[in-house]
Amino acid sequence: MEPLRDGHGRLIGDLRVSVTDRCNFRCQYCMPAEGLPWLERSEVLSFEEITRLVEVVGEMGVHDVRLTGGEPLVRRDFPRLVSMLAALPSVHDLSVTTNGFLLERDAEALVAAGMGRFNVSLDSLQRDRFFQLARRDALPQVLRGLERLAEFPEAQPIKINAVAIRGFTEEEVPAFVELARQSPYEVRFIEFMPLDADHGWRSESVLTGGELRELIDALHPLEEIEREPSATARVYRFADGHGRIGFINPVSEPFCADCNRIRLTADGRLRTCLFSLNETDLRGPLRDGASDVELEQIIRDAVWRKELKHHIGEPGFIQPERTMSAIGG
Ligand code: SF4
Repeated sequence: MEPLRDGHGRLIGDLRVSVTDRCNFRCQYCMPAEGLPWLERSEVLSFEEITRLVEVVGEMGVHDVRLTGGEPLVRRDFPRLVSMLAALPSVHDLSVTTNGFLLERDAEALVAAGMGRFNVSLDSLQRDRFFQLARRDALPQVLRGLERLAEFPEAQPIKINAVAIRGFTEEEVPAFVELARQSPYEVRFIEFMPLDADHGWRSESVLTGGELRELIDALHPLEEIEREPSATARVYRFADGHGRIGFINPVSEPFCADCNRIRLTADGRLRTCLFSLNETDLRGPLRDGASDVELEQIIRDAVWRKELKHHIGEPGFIQPERTMSAIGG
């Protein structure tokens, strides 16, 4: 079948699937303390519907699937979805982005179900500061989850993603650098993006990857590793051979030119960019009995109109209505 391509000639190969908008954390850069109005159960795609859509895009050459949320592990029976997707011949790479709180409970089941890669969101290694940001006293539980996951060689490499916020993250750098140098985890810093529910994002609050790189290079010299096509992270090795560290810089060093990603929301909307202002409904046609060919055409038409890039920092930039918690990483 003709591979899925956008109107700028980019091949699409990566689907991010938000399996729920619910989360057990209340990270300040994402949602308000009281949470958000959650989707009704009937609005959320079933495992069978998600699997069907993954299969349809798989036919068009989309072989990388990442499961996100909200927090995907709060979705009941989540490992069953993992095994359904892992069984699809078209899924070559299956990964999950999680806050790690339920990993101690679910690591074994997820690995057994076929989950290949794990990205764990962890913004602080200090209990009180973790609580301050996530509004949950959960650091010990997350660290236990990481340790449990690290027992499974199949789950390596485990990536740790820390959102970088000016005035908060600088103090965390030495501990994260030691973690990257002393453990099997690959630490990456992600620039704070304007997708928070409170619309409190300001460009001044972005601590850039470049600034962090300088901070770390002063501690331990870094050597850049060649960036893989469509990769979001710029990865460096420590010159003395002790580990790697990465930087995801969507604000200061956008990587839109070779973007190969599309997203499916928990309520069945196709987003062709993290910052899309428009979405395409797939749940309606799916539940109205659309054939695979009809779904394929709807997806191709939407992807053909995929945005060239985001417009953060440009005059007229509009933050999407949908928040990060309802889009997924
Ligand atoms: S902002 Fe949009 S176009 Fe740019 S890398 Fe992210 S998803 Fe792709």
